[in-house]
Amino acid sequence: MIRRAAILLAAALILTSCGGGNNAPAPRETASRSNADIGKICRSSKIRGTKAAPIAPSLPGCGLTSGVNVYEVSGVRLSQPATMDCTTAKTLEKWVRKDLKGAVGRLGGGVSELKVAAHYSCRTRNHRPGAPISEHGKGKAIDISAIGLNDGSEISVQRDWGKGRKGRILRKSHRRACKRFGTVLGPNADRAHRDHFHFDTARHQGGSYCR
Ligand SMILES: [Zn+2]
Repeated sequence: MIRRAAILLAAALILTSCGGGNNAPAPRETASRSNADIGKICRSSKIRGTKAAPIAPSLPGCGLTSGVNVYEVSGVRLSQPATMDCTTAKTLEKWVRKDLKGAVGRLGGGVSELKVAAHYSCRTRNHRPGAPISEHGKGKAIDISAIGLNDGSEISVQRDWGKGRKGRILRKSHRRACKRFGTVLGPNADRAHRDHFHFDTARHQGGSYCR
């Protein structure tokens, strides 16, 4: 019974996340930003971005009243500004600074960029009508498909997971994220996550869910 319950829990958690692999394009800011608008946010000297305008829910349960558009964490730029709440931004920053940078080390000259596959997106789990809202619809989730390095190369979740040195870096980064985020999903979770890591700051009874 316990095992069956665990499987059901796992299935429920996976459904909370990314939605069947077809990550809808995340909303981009419509207004162009000058660099002057970008500054320290979330009371952290290590997070740079802008305050996000309140996002009204287009479905019940979505929306973000005091979010931020994150451009850079701990000196590492995001491939696109990512909208989230400050709890998620701070958790991401800590993961980059304390976990990812150490795992990558000097490979390719070190970490320069996070390739963001998805961030805020108001939708239900797996895009199913009537299903509960994804953590992406609450500003608590980010999907990362690759780590850009200073020499222009990258560590790709899809290409490098389970392979060689880059695979070991990805596995270590994934494992360490489990200490920080509520949910961490990667290629071992299901087919929907074969090409990205899903991180969210949802709180689960019994600690973080990591697969
Ligand atoms: Zn996701």
